[in-house]
Amino acid sequence: MKTAIITGITGQDGAYLAKVLLDNGYKVIGILRSYNNANVDKLKYLKIERKVILEECDLSDIPSIIKILTKYKPAELYNLAAQSSVGLSFEQPIGTIQFNTLSVLNLLESIRLVDKDIRFYQASSSEMYGKVLHLPVTEYTPMHPLSPYAISKASAYWTVVNYRESYGLFSCNGVLFNHESYLRSNNFFVKKVIRESLLIKSGIQDELRVGNIDIKRDFGYAPEYVKAMWLMLQHSSAEDFIICSGESVSLREIILYVFEKLEIDQQKLVIDKELYRPTDIEDIYGYNQKAKKLLKWNYTLNFFEVLDLLLAEEAQAINKGL
Ligand code: NDP
Repeated sequence: MKTAIITGITGQDGAYLAKVLLDNGYKVIGILRSYNNANVDKLKYLKIERKVILEECDLSDIPSIIKILTKYKPAELYNLAAQSSVGLSFEQPIGTIQFNTLSVLNLLESIRLVDKDIRFYQASSSEMYGKVLHLPVTEYTPMHPLSPYAISKASAYWTVVNYRESYGLFSCNGVLFNHESYLRSNNFFVKKVIRESLLIKSGIQDELRVGNIDIKRDFGYAPEYVKAMWLMLQHSSAEDFIICSGESVSLREIILYVFEKLEIDQQKLVIDKELYRPTDIEDIYGYNQKAKKLLKWNYTLNFFEVLDLLLAEEAQAINKGL
């Protein structure tokens, strides 16, 4: 039985990845920043909270990481823990950059010291590319980050590459474009639109208040994207891969689609300039052929199909009082 460690197991991707690894026969160790404040609702929702071992570990403290690596001797480590909100990173730039970069360096340094055979996955982000001159984004597109979050992820990305090139570690970047699910936190755009539109439909909420919706993103389905993380660490060589759907849709199109499905009047949509970000990417989409070819990652959903899945699951959850 292989052992895998997941940092950020309480998040959207952590929960879905834990499920994939358990289904593949792994022993799964999940890292929490604190037992006392841990919210394991996402693990509970997938009915796996009792199937994973949860350990408290401060990722800013190398001795604590070394202790966990020595105790569990994992074959694979998936680093998903991060301050993951672009918006919040403008409010908390120092905390975001500090945690999102140092935690990665500490993990890689610990692996180098304890066992160089531990395979390492880093949750990198399409946000690193920012102001792109040529679309689609490929593994060779130059980076021009447009937020503190993007800067932190770019720094972590190059740390991963550096440990691979300097010390021969099996360390990979999965560069994921936006991916959504029922388990996405309520402050993220697609989840907010789905949940709040359903609340408007049932008369609990009056309006949907959003910022700039004339930007386009490449959105996908989280339960399928986490499978690519696992495939990356099974590949014969450590490489970086872009994981995306390959097409972008505007945020306005998403709202209009959901409103039309739920028969909500467009007057319920309120654009609030206060919610605009200091800088934003206008349009971005990626090229996923490397992952499809080398990892045999299979992804065929278009985002409107994903929206249908999300609407159905969210409506079910609201009916259950979740
Ligand atoms: P979530 O925000 O759902 O989960 C983030 C996880 O990181 C949570 O488990 C959270 O723990 C943990 N975390 C946050 N801050 C700290 C900290 N200071 N110390 C320890 N743990 C911390 O993110 P996702 O699951 O959506 O994303 C997973 C990873 O993938 C993240 O690194 C994100 O940046 C990256 N990513 C996500 C994309 C997406 O579209 N979802 C796209 C590209 C990259 P707690 O529960 O205690 O808050």
